[in-house]
Amino acid sequence: MPYHEDESNPSWVLTSPQTLTLLPRPLPKLVHPTDLLLHITHTGICGSDLHYLLHHRLGPFTVTAPLILGHESSGTIISHGPGTLPQFSPGTRVAIEPGIPCRYCQRCKAGRYNLCEGMKFAATPPVDGTLAKYVVMPADMCIPLPETVSSEEGAMLEPLAVGVHVMRSQAAVSPGEVVVVMGAGPVGLLCAAVAKARGAAEVVVVDVVKSRLEFVKGLTTCGGIETFHSAGCKDSSEVVEGLKERFGGLRVGGGAHKAVDATGVEVCIQSAIGVLRPGGTFVQAGMGRDLVQVPMVEVAAKEIVVKGSFRYAAGDYEEALRLVKDQLVDVRGLITHRFKFTEAVEAFETVKRGEGVKVIIEGARD
Ligand SMILES: [Zn+2]
Ligand SMILES: [Zn+2]
Repeated sequence: MPYHEDESNPSWVLTSPQTLTLLPRPLPKLVHPTDLLLHITHTGICGSDLHYLLHHRLGPFTVTAPLILGHESSGTIISHGPGTLPQFSPGTRVAIEPGIPCRYCQRCKAGRYNLCEGMKFAATPPVDGTLAKYVVMPADMCIPLPETVSSEEGAMLEPLAVGVHVMRSQAAVSPGEVVVVMGAGPVGLLCAAVAKARGAAEVVVVDVVKSRLEFVKGLTTCGGIETFHSAGCKDSSEVVEGLKERFGGLRVGGGAHKAVDATGVEVCIQSAIGVLRPGGTFVQAGMGRDLVQVPMVEVAAKEIVVKGSFRYAAGDYEEALRLVKDQLVDVRGLITHRFKFTEAVEAFETVKRGEGVKVIIEGARD
């Protein structure tokens, strides 16, 4: 990739609510000895990017200044600081873990840097995202891609790492377990694939949109993922009854071992808790309304373990890469739309219309 010192850095900037503008930004500089200058090759659009575009805020974060969107990216190394290891040579393709933690707090040192209060996460105000031609990232937040893994798959490691964190660290899915996932968006589908790759005996994905459930096909080589179309159910007890009827009471034990909500929708949260066997674990992975009604008597009586899950932490990206490299999870089928860098507005319109599963924007060319 030709690169000139006096070049500008074309970037997609959220300039005002609902307005994305392609602007020349200054070329990012190598600051620390282990920094890498990367040419971005692929960026997936995330629900959070769309949320910032439409509402200018998400949870506690509000956009108060122009913000570059995007955080699900892969890139090629252009140059590096003097302190990088030999595997980060120019031309190497990498997946980017898009958050830089403080590295010094107790949680960072415990490997749980997703909970670092000093985290600088891409496209989370005021930190700019990766939907730009060039980005500088520290080398330890970049993971080199082997020959057999494409840069497009590299960008997909971000949502896959979210699924790895849910299923490995939080739900701790073990071989032989029954797992229910509410929601067949990218994260729900990838959670299901990770659960299957971890040896779950039965994995069921639930969604109200039938076409989304089709995407479980070919997602993993570790056995079939079951689906349950919940559009006809009027409340959570009908979802739970329907699931138990279809899947043998969710097998011996009277319910799922693990249930994950990847929607943030109240009825889905209630269904996930309802479908668990006594002693089961519920993990909240989706972000929706902050205050929802949860059946707490059932949580107490069944000794349900309730956990959260947020982004990814130590080892999750490496595990996501292993799953793709060893062909246990195939992320390619989830990429339903591809756009050129100059077509980012159209790409966001596609996501806004709720079309497809994952929309990818290619990197800027000359
Ligand atoms: Zn994301
Ligand atoms: Zn920290």
